[in-house]
Amino acid sequence: MKWLPFGTSPPEPLKKLPVIDRGLCTGCGLCLAACTHGCLAFSWNLANLVVPECCTSEGHCAASCPDGFIEMKWVAAKGERGVGEWREGGAA
Ligand code: SF4
Ligand code: SF4
Repeated sequence: MKWLPFGTSPPEPLKKLPVIDRGLCTGCGLCLAACTHGCLAFSWNLANLVVPECCTSEGHCAASCPDGFIEMKWVAAKGERGVGEWREGGAA
């Protein structure tokens, strides 16, 4: 067990999730169609990750975006650790 300095909290666990560049998204909808888990939806006609808890981290949405506006990244998250790829927070 690793001890933390007094008064500090452990870093949040990280989950591999799609990060969408909504400044560049054209709203084509291909990533929504690619996600069979229903994690993505349109907000203001742009793709948005609305249910990260259901994401299985396999990256089909990122692969489907014709212009590469979605990148799979390690993001601080909460949820069921059995769904998707997780790792401990803190330094890589
Ligand atoms: S990585 Fe897979 S499950 Fe997660 S949002 Fe993309 S298509 Fe859906
Ligand atoms: S596939 Fe790419 S451009 Fe199309 S809605 Fe998704 S993020 Fe936007």
